[in-house]
Amino acid sequence: MRVAVFALGGTISVSGRARGERLTGAEITSAVPGLDTLGVTLDVRDVHAVPSGSLTFAHVLDVVRDAARAVAEGADGVVVTQGTDTLEETAFIADLVWAHDAPFVLTGAMRQPSMAGADGPANVLAAVRVAVSREARGLGALVAFNDEVHAARWVRKSHSTSTATFVSPNAGPVGHVVEGRVRVLAPPPRRGILPDAFDAERLDAVRVALHTVTLDDDGAQLVGLDGTHQGLVVAGFGVGHVPASLVPVLGALAERIPVVLTSRTGGGAVLRHTYHQPGSETDLQERGLVNGGLLDPYKARVLLRLLLTAGADRDKVASAFAEHG
Ligand code: ASP
Repeated sequence: MRVAVFALGGTISVSGRARGERLTGAEITSAVPGLDTLGVTLDVRDVHAVPSGSLTFAHVLDVVRDAARAVAEGADGVVVTQGTDTLEETAFIADLVWAHDAPFVLTGAMRQPSMAGADGPANVLAAVRVAVSREARGLGALVAFNDEVHAARWVRKSHSTSTATFVSPNAGPVGHVVEGRVRVLAPPPRRGILPDAFDAERLDAVRVALHTVTLDDDGAQLVGLDGTHQGLVVAGFGVGHVPASLVPVLGALAERIPVVLTSRTGGGAVLRHTYHQPGSETDLQERGLVNGGLLDPYKARVLLRLLLTAGADRDKVASAFAEHG
């Protein structure tokens, strides 16, 4: 079996030798006990050595393209090591465009390699096992962490330091690694794959803002947003509500750019037809906001930016969120 490994930096690569120095992908993988007994040949590539907050959509899409080439040349699966801070977003970017059955598995670490109980080696071992697992084929992008397997479309980073930080509030883990065996218990359904039409220049031209609605929010931040941004995701209260005072500004924006409504709660869906007061989900939908469904604000922003970069109009945006949300 063969796995293509792409090293992108993150805590898993912090060397502990000199400040700012990073481990290479070969150093990360060679420090994993038991990896050499799996009978898996690793093709390790150092792509970036950065904190994950410095990754871009273009970086991720380049990795996906290189990974697709590796699979076409015979790799059975793909592992990406990166920082955990943005992993819930990068994983979803990959998931939306990954058109192969071969598992695309992302992982990282919460503890630096030199710390007691460093989790990087166990996570890499689990990720490689998932990457070559028959059970994980056809499931798109997955996150292997803490011996759990999460679907890219549901996974969230839920804690700033815990090694159990990755959770899927709406679905739970789709599988587990038990005594080295990958058990997929709840395979996530695959949604439509977006055709790859994303060069860096087009991505740069599409800005999607995310506005989290807060108590007594007067919406001043949103005024004129359509002059600088091509789309907006609103993280509303609860089931998708905003203060009544925000309705005019959101309605006006929705006439000019796609505005997607999500929930700031971290779990559950935006409702469609339960409340009717000004600022409710029905009111905002009538004013043209697109219902983000079960997608959290960060994932909704990923989907909207890719759709707009691909040239989607309002109807295409609405139908894509109906499918993915
Ligand atoms: N700040 C780090 C990063 O995302 C955190 C981590 O790797 O866990 O690059």
